[in-house]
Amino acid sequence: MNSPKKLVLLGATGSIGDSTLRVLRKHPDKIKLVGVSANKQAEKLLKIAEEFDVPHACLTHAPEQNISVPRCTQLNTGSKSLEELAALDQADIVVVAVVGAVGLLPTLSALKAGKDIVLANKESLVMGGNIITDAAKKYGAKIIPADSEHNAVFQCINGQPHRAIESIVLTASGGPFREFPINNLANVSIEQALHHPNWSMGKKITIDSATMSNKGLELIEARWLFDVDPDQLEVVIHPPSIVHGIVRFVDGCCLAQMAPPSMTFAMQNAILFPDRHEAVEPSLDFSQPLDLCFTPPSLERYPCLRLAQDALEQGKSAPLVFNAANEVAVDAFLMNRIGFLDISRIIECTLNDSDYIYTHSIDDLLEHDTSSRIIASRHIERIA
Ligand code: MG
Repeated sequence: MNSPKKLVLLGATGSIGDSTLRVLRKHPDKIKLVGVSANKQAEKLLKIAEEFDVPHACLTHAPEQNISVPRCTQLNTGSKSLEELAALDQADIVVVAVVGAVGLLPTLSALKAGKDIVLANKESLVMGGNIITDAAKKYGAKIIPADSEHNAVFQCINGQPHRAIESIVLTASGGPFREFPINNLANVSIEQALHHPNWSMGKKITIDSATMSNKGLELIEARWLFDVDPDQLEVVIHPPSIVHGIVRFVDGCCLAQMAPPSMTFAMQNAILFPDRHEAVEPSLDFSQPLDLCFTPPSLERYPCLRLAQDALEQGKSAPLVFNAANEVAVDAFLMNRIGFLDISRIIECTLNDSDYIYTHSIDDLLEHDTSSRIIASRHIERIA
């Protein structure tokens, strides 16, 4: 029998981290955890390190209270150690499940060390798509998508040549406001926006699902992951969240991937790729009626989707500006400073006020990210 794959998990305490650990508990003979990181949840990180007997752990922000660290041989603080963890000698594969721009440097660090990565961090590709995909090519590392949509597309492509792909279709649940009266959207509460019909996820991504900014960010990721043009990307609303992604081939045939709406399926596929083994959770049950419906998204209802598509079309750093403005706006919405529809207004104003540039380094990206956030914050001050 093969020895287990050695895995580093960055962002072990979040919801993607949870799904990853469920896969690891199911397959202890196939994967061995050799490094974990968390942002602030020190105690949860230590529990994980203890349960999986992990030799390396890294906390990126200092814990709020002092805790003892009995089994961790390293508990570093500071983002540099996140990069070190990503390039850990003994690791075969690195799961990047941290949230936000902080994922960029460790992703790059893992690729430069020639590690295959399982990518669940959106910002790496949204902000630095060209830099990240160039690094993967240069150092011969694979980027295996872990997001359910991109993993579905990855499974459907399954080695088919690039020229065979006509387009890539990402499905979207439509979020909690799919049928909400459009005239009342301005007044929806934070609680209503946080109530996702199918998926249980962190707050930021749940709001992004309600506005469909999330699907917009996923289109941008797909452009880089699968090296397709913006006009080869489609979105379709599919409320049951059973079909996660579809590839339309040049011969008109469409292949789709289906699984219940839980991240463990995509995560297991990505981590154990190219092997398939028993799942963590039950698969689809066809003894019960199952309706799969698809409808086109309304860009009037989901202006953030339109803005993301425009940004993708614009190219250069426009997707980065979209992402920065969206993050700042969602934060302001979650703090009750702006209304739900202001999120798209802030993004639009920020995109209009920005000069798009070609970014060649992580420093370029971070600098442009900061200036975009400042522009977005000014628009929030004006509205709030
Ligand atoms: Mg997704």
